[in-house]
Formats: sequence, structure tokens, C-alpha cells
Amino acid sequence: MSAADEFDIVVIGGGPGGYATALYGAAAGLSVAIIERDKVGGTCLHRGCVPAKEFLETASVNRAVTGADRFGINVAESTLDFSVSQARKGAVVDQLFKGLSGLLKGRKVTVFSGTGMLEADHRVRVVDGDDAGTVVVGTDVVLASGSVPRTLSGLEVDGRWVLTSDEFLDLKELPSSVAVVGGGAIGCEFASLLSDLGAKVTVLEFLPSILNECDEDIARLVTRSFKKRGIDVVTGVAVEGHTPGPDGATTVVRAGEQRFEVEMIVVSVGRRPRTEGLVAPGVAVQIDERGFVVADEYQRTAEPGVWAVGDIVAGTPQLAHVGFAEAIVAVKTILGESVAPVDDSKVPWAIYCHPEVAFCGLTEAQAKAKGIEVVTKKDPFGGNSRAIIVGDTEGVVKIVAERRADGSAGRILGVHLAGPWVTEQLGAGYLAVNWEALPEEVAYFIQPHPSLSENFGETMLALTGRGLHLG
Ligand code: FAD
Repeated sequence: MSAADEFDIVVIGGGPGGYATALYGAAAGLSVAIIERDKVGGTCLHRGCVPAKEFLETASVNRAVTGADRFGINVAESTLDFSVSQARKGAVVDQLFKGLSGLLKGRKVTVFSGTGMLEADHRVRVVDGDDAGTVVVGTDVVLASGSVPRTLSGLEVDGRWVLTSDEFLDLKELPSSVAVVGGGAIGCEFASLLSDLGAKVTVLEFLPSILNECDEDIARLVTRSFKKRGIDVVTGVAVEGHTPGPDGATTVVRAGEQRFEVEMIVVSVGRRPRTEGLVAPGVAVQIDERGFVVADEYQRTAEPGVWAVGDIVAGTPQLAHVGFAEAIVAVKTILGESVAPVDDSKVPWAIYCHPEVAFCGLTEAQAKAKGIEVVTKKDPFGGNSRAIIVGDTEGVVKIVAERRADGSAGRILGVHLAGPWVTEQLGAGYLAVNWEALPEEVAYFIQPHPSLSENFGETMLALTGRGLHLG
């Protein structure tokens, strides 16, 4: 084997987890190769975060235009040419793809094209694609092969009636009525944008609530808001299948006794790891019964010198920025540097539906389930001057703090936001939770006026026992 085929780190998969490993490793002076079967950027750039947010932005512009008359700006009736939004999405993805490719090249990361399989002795074989037959060796190997959409039996994906996020994000035209099966983060983003762009939307959720991972107050607020906008939210419903109608235009979703006639079904029931064929027999990497790679808090698998980051890791929140953070933990550990592992219970979450949702740390129910006594405060955006100026007052800041023996609010456990631009407002809450700050420490800091962030400051102030506006 030539020296050119040996690297300090070989990464299988060039999504957020994989490319962050490569960029961070290369920044530390390591030689790095990525094996990627499709395009660097992964799900997030090509079939996830970025394209979904572009369509949500289209929805937001449409909302602004249709509400412009409130400001005395009269526009002719707004119409949507979805092909323009699709083309714009393509251009955004392309720009970011070129940027990432350039960045990797600039850091001298070698990218091999094809599907990688880890064999014994840290050898990675490219089994197909342009570089099929190539074998590279890494002193360390990082597995980052990511995830693909889950499906449901009875709802076989055919690209016509039944779509996952992969097919949905490539639609040429929007349907007029849709059943979104699954009311998690991605399902709610799709429901919100489809509704804003004129489709009749029904969300079908198996659990008792949509946004099940959120604080109950936040999930309730979003449910109320969706219903007000005409989105049907049906919870506690088990979808069994669908029957296309004779007209060829609609299909009927079956769920027990209930029937929902729609033009299209978008299945959004989570993502499964893509680990088939990733590891050759005989390599000690442990893959659990659901297909996830088992790794410790430093991202080490059971095979020495083999690491795993991103969506394939068992128990990890499937978020791009968690992949970035795990990549840094893995590389620093490889370098022998000290690093704090990612605390999965305190990572930031952002959901870009309307109203937006962002949170970090324990919900009130989670804290109580752990036996922690809590003090909570909520400050709705209804009284916030910036929100009133903008004309978007639907939302709330909720903070969960540990109750001290004297009944006052102690350590901040969770910050839960819904409302305008809260995905951009979570930073302060994230720091407060992760620094295990006290309300009086955070309340000391000034929020600009008029700004939406005043609600966060005011909620903290109220937790000290004396709010300006909030009791
Ligand atoms: P992936 O991004 O899945 O990348 C894995 C890469 O590995 C892929 O490029 C794949 O082609 C390649 N690969 C797989 N197997 C092999 C192999 N054997 N050999 C070579 N290459 C291989 N997260 C957020 O944080 N914020 C959001 O707003 C957000 N929105 C989302 C919206 C949607 C619609 C979806 C579907 C996801 C969203 N996510 C979001 C989740 C986010 O996309 C994932 O958490 C993230 O992409 C995971 O990164 P990863 O590197 O682990 O895997």
C-alpha cells in the first residue's frame, strides 16, 4: 500500500458529523480523508435542515406579504410560483455545497467517492462509486454514515401518494391537501409551511400530543396556533394504511374508524441509522438491535481507534449541531486533549414552524419526574413592545428552575420558548441552563429595549421574586 492511502483519520460519511470531524481534525494538523457515497453536506444540506428552512422562509415571506395591509402596504393578491422557491432552494444548497467543498479542499481533506466499509485493522474499502476498489487506512476511523427516513407499514413510499422528507423536499408542485403523519419537529415544520402556502393540512400523531419532546405549555400553544390557522391536529391516532380513490386525485388514510381524504401523505415518523454494510464481520464495533452504533460519551466504539458521531450513535439527539459537537469531542480525544463530552440533556433544539419553538434543558414534567421540585415562570409575548410592533405576539417564554428549601427559585433547569424568532433567541437560555446559572445572576444582565429578548430577562427577574411587569 502506498503512503498516500494512509491518513491520520478516515471518516465514513460526509454529513455534519463527518465533515465537522474532517474540518476540525485538519485544523489541528491531522491528515484526513472522507469517504462519501453521495455529496458532502449529507442529509442536513441536501435533504434536511437547509432545504426545509428555505421552504419555511418562502412560507414566512408569504405570511408577511398577506399581512402587509396591516401596515398600510397594499399588494395585489399574492400568488405562489413554487418552481421559483424550488429553484431558490437549489441555489442556496448549491452555494453552501460549493462553500463546504472549497473549505474541505482548502484544508487538504481528501474526499473519496463511494460507499465505505470498515474492515479489520482500520482499513476502509470503497465498495462502489467512482473510487470503487480503493482501500485507505486510518490511524483512527470515524463512522458518520447518518440516517434515512423511517417509514410505516401500510404507507409504502411511492413518491406519488406517500412521501418522506426526501421526496417532499423535491416536489415540483405543492398539493392542495396533505396528511402529515407524525407531529414531531420535522412533521410540524412541514405542516406549518404547507398551511402557510395554502394547503389544507391534517397532522396525524400517534402520541397524545404533537411536539411530544417539548414542554407541555409549548406543545399546547403550538397546537392551539395550528388549529387557529386551520390545521387539523389529530392525536392518539394509529395510521394503518391508505386506499387511493378511483378519481386518481385523492387517497383515503385509514386509522381505526377514522378516514382522512387527502391528495398526498407525508410520513414524518423519525429517522433510522444507515449502518447496513458499514462494518465488515469480525470488526468489534457494536451495533444495537435498532441499527445504531453504540459509543461511549467520548464517541469511542467497542473497536479501539474507531469512533462514531452524528445520527448513527445510539441515544444521541438527531441534530446537525450535535453531530458537530460530537465530532469535536472525538477529535480532541484522539489528540489526547481533555474535553467535556456532549451532555445530550442540555443541547439546544430549534423548530422552525410558525410559531417557532426553541428549548434547552428539562421540561417541567421531566424535572418533576426526576423528583425535583420546581419553580416556573411564564411571560407571554402579548405584552412585549417589539412583538406588538411586529404584529406577531403569539408565544411565550417559560423558565423552569429548581425550588430552593425556602421556596425561591434556584438553578435554572430548562428554558422553553415559542414565538417570533425564538430560534435566534435561545442562546442566552442555552448558556443559563449549561452554566447552571441562578435567576439573579442572569437577571443582572441587561436586555435591549424594545426587543423580544426582554421577555427572557423579565422572566428571570420575576424568578428572583421581583419582576418589573411579571408577578
Ligand atoms: P447525515 O447528514 O445523514 O450524513 C451522512 C452522510 O454519510 C450522507 O452524506 C451519506 O450519503 C453518507 N453515507 C452513508 N453511508 C455511507 C457509507 N457507508 N459510505 C460513505 N458515505 C456514506 N437538524 C438540525 O440540527 N436542525 C434542523 O433544522 C434540522 N432540520 C431537519 C429537517 C429535515 C427535513 C431532516 C430530514 C433533518 C433535519 N435535521 C435538522 C437533522 C439533521 O439533518 C441530521 O441530524 C444531520 O444531518 C445528521 O448528520 P450526520 O452527519 O450524522 O448524518
